[in-house]
Amino acid sequence: MTAIARGFLAFVLLNHFVPLAVRGETLPKSVLVIEEADANRGPYYTTMFSALRARLYASNRPLSLYIENLDLPFFEGPEYEETLEQFLARKYRDRPIDVVITIGQGALRRAIDWRSQIWSGAAIVFADVTDDAIEARNLPAYVTGRTIKLRLEDMVEAAHAIVPGLEQVVIVGAPFDSQAAIAFKRFANEIPAISPNVKVADLTGLPIAELSKRVSALPEKSAILYTPIYSDGNGAQLLPAEAVTRLAETANRPIIANVETYIDRGAVGGYMLSPAITGDEAAGLALQILDGVQPSQIPVAVGNSLRPVFNWTGLQRWGVDESSLPPGSEIRNRPSPIWRQYPAQTAIVFAVVLLQSLFIVALLYEHRRRRRAELEVRARSNELAHVNRRATAGELSASIAHEVNQPLGAILANTEVCEMLIKKPDLDVQLIEEVLGDIKSENYRASEVIVRLQRLMRRAEPQKEDIELNELVKDVLKFVAGQAGAHEIDLGEELSAEPLRVHADPIQLQQVVMNLILNAIDAICEAASSSVRRVVVRTRQMGSDVAEIAVFDTGPGIAADRRMRMFEPFFTTKPQGMGMGLSIARTIIQAHGGAIRAESRDGGGAVFRVQLPLDDVEGRKNQRTR
Ligand code: ADP
Repeated sequence: MTAIARGFLAFVLLNHFVPLAVRGETLPKSVLVIEEADANRGPYYTTMFSALRARLYASNRPLSLYIENLDLPFFEGPEYEETLEQFLARKYRDRPIDVVITIGQGALRRAIDWRSQIWSGAAIVFADVTDDAIEARNLPAYVTGRTIKLRLEDMVEAAHAIVPGLEQVVIVGAPFDSQAAIAFKRFANEIPAISPNVKVADLTGLPIAELSKRVSALPEKSAILYTPIYSDGNGAQLLPAEAVTRLAETANRPIIANVETYIDRGAVGGYMLSPAITGDEAAGLALQILDGVQPSQIPVAVGNSLRPVFNWTGLQRWGVDESSLPPGSEIRNRPSPIWRQYPAQTAIVFAVVLLQSLFIVALLYEHRRRRRAELEVRARSNELAHVNRRATAGELSASIAHEVNQPLGAILANTEVCEMLIKKPDLDVQLIEEVLGDIKSENYRASEVIVRLQRLMRRAEPQKEDIELNELVKDVLKFVAGQAGAHEIDLGEELSAEPLRVHADPIQLQQVVMNLILNAIDAICEAASSSVRRVVVRTRQMGSDVAEIAVFDTGPGIAADRRMRMFEPFFTTKPQGMGMGLSIARTIIQAHGGAIRAESRDGGGAVFRVQLPLDDVEGRKNQRTR
């Protein structure tokens, strides 16, 4: 039961036998809709009734709207009709109706037959009746309405538009003579007039199961013309709209139909009846009559409810070019652009993407700025490290000069010995060879000092290599040995027995170790009183993956307040100091993934510990091959 019908029932019960006029209220105009079937029997009728009601209510006039469903397709016979008539006569005895709107041909006939008994004086507006049904009748003056004009040739024309080179149409539906609408009955007579180029196969009357099979294997250049099916062939009722859905599930060719509500149920389209237009037109005529126009002044005419309408999805499925459709065709279900379907969501997504892009641009800009700053810092710290190395070299100049002078002196002395030897009458060749060998090795010693100095002074970009820490420490010790000796400091080494391989920049590491040793020497000199003057460099492996270089001294140790600050740039306690050595050392060690720290030793003096990750040669190889 529709909401209206339910509302109406309540209305009837409440006001039973108490006419409005008796209660002293002014009677609003009344419209009664008589449905031939049942407004609930499919989307076609519900859509039509909704449109009708919407148009009536849009007029804003006080109106009573009633609806009766005659259910004629399912309940027939004189007895049923007589009961209906009596029931309605009783029901509307005290409820005068101004306009009766009939839906369907059967409803129109009953309304005319029963009018004098039940709704005497009411005008009748008919809807959903085909033109041929009206032509056959001589309509009374109080009847008007809009007809619909269904023709088989229109369906064939639509089939031509959908299937280029159409060779066959297959008509499916209830048997022609059992169709409710005369128009469909007449399709049988229209068949011979179909173009001789198009064969017509009549599959009407087949049970739906059989029909579903037949329509699944139709020839290429064919189309299915659908006329209403009301039963599955085995006695069960079926709504025509359901039957279209069933057929569309198996059909291998497009289905042409003529009721718009089938378009979402598998039909590709055709000249479609729009139930909404039918309902709207009928309500429009009823309103004219309520405004005082006589029905006889409104001539019966063909309505506007039949229009070419097609389903976009169907057109895609059958590969139909839209330009081949009849002019003025409406295309339903065309997907609207995403921003029209979901405007709010699209706006949000757009805003998010925009924001994200802005963020990315900002991040890239920031990244570039950082990178530039980093490069600048690195360049500066390289520069600084270089300056620090030069300063160190300056500091070492006395001991370097000493180191170079020693071999040079030895060379000179050996040369003089040679001169003496060659002047002797009995040449002692073997001795001369020995002395020349000494000269050679002293020369080598001197040039090694120079090469080492050159290497240290090189202003090169940091470059990591595989190096062995003990070798590196030994090299540095040679360098600073002179300096230690000059200050009467005993320079010792306690190197690990196992090699300690690290992946590092050798010049930078040398610089660190050298700075630590020179600082240790300075510290001992600072504490002039210290009796033991000793610097020891110790290396060892810690755990499986860390190497440590520790520089011990017997200086004054590190006061608590200095411990953190001495790694800061420009912190120095020395009159000629730059205060950069430890700061550079920390930068270098951190860049190598290591750490540096300083402690006071229990027995006095300080220890500086540098820890570096041991080289994971295998890991690096794997990374490279990955
Ligand atoms: P600089 O040697 O030019 O002063 P550094 O950065 O190498 O610069 O050292 C900073 C300061 O740390 C030194 O001035 C000194 O006070 C302190 N320092 C460094 N090494 C030691 C050490 N072995 N014992 C005690 N103090 C130290």
